[in-house]
Amino acid sequence: MLELLPLAQTFARAPISGFSVGAVVRGASGALYLGANLEIPGQPLYATVHAEQAAASIAYMHGESGMEAVATTAAPCGYCRQFLEELAPGGEIRVLLAGRRLVRLQWLLPDAFGPRDLGRKQGALPMNRVKIALLTEVTDPVMAAALSAACASYAPYTGAHSGVAIQVTDGSLYTGAYIENAAFNPSLPPFQAALISLLSTGLHLEEITDAVLVEMDGAVISQKSATEDALFALRPSVRLRTALGRGIV
Ligand SMILES: [Zn+2]
Repeated sequence: MLELLPLAQTFARAPISGFSVGAVVRGASGALYLGANLEIPGQPLYATVHAEQAAASIAYMHGESGMEAVATTAAPCGYCRQFLEELAPGGEIRVLLAGRRLVRLQWLLPDAFGPRDLGRKQGALPMNRVKIALLTEVTDPVMAAALSAACASYAPYTGAHSGVAIQVTDGSLYTGAYIENAAFNPSLPPFQAALISLLSTGLHLEEITDAVLVEMDGAVISQKSATEDALFALRPSVRLRTALGRGIV
């Protein structure tokens, strides 16, 4: 995992800080997932994705049932420790840094505030797909992919499931599911998750030609305006399409 970090780092897009971070996550299956940080010029800094979040999001989207370890090029910040706690409550996940001794997350985040403090028995993993029906017809593959991503999202604190699909110039699709956090702020928005999926293939953000957000009708929060703003900052010519859905019991 440590040897893969320089490769993970090449996926970084850090035009604001110039500080590239790479991360490698090992899922319960033993598969490794590479991620890097993403910064969006013109947007508030909260639109940023950290490398650990990126690698964990990719592992999540690949249906990993748990996370065993994470390696990073820089010590995980407090925000990432909180994000990882949601994916691996209890702090057993191992954290590797080059030249340092291996530690468990619970050593880096003692007395953690996590899902159990809000009455949840488990965190974001394993994925628990929800059933969502759109209020309108599914009109195209991008919308269908966004719906599938929304069904894969984790939103136990708001019920505001959401997913984004983006299409690029060669027609390929990349999806991102919302991953909520007990501490709210470290939640990963679905658009950022989709951007990470795209960047992890080596493609460029300038290749985005279409984007669809699926979220819940009448939910207590919405991703719409933040997604529109971030998309506009990256691709002013692409207009976000939004479709609303309702949960099916
Ligand atoms: Zn971080």
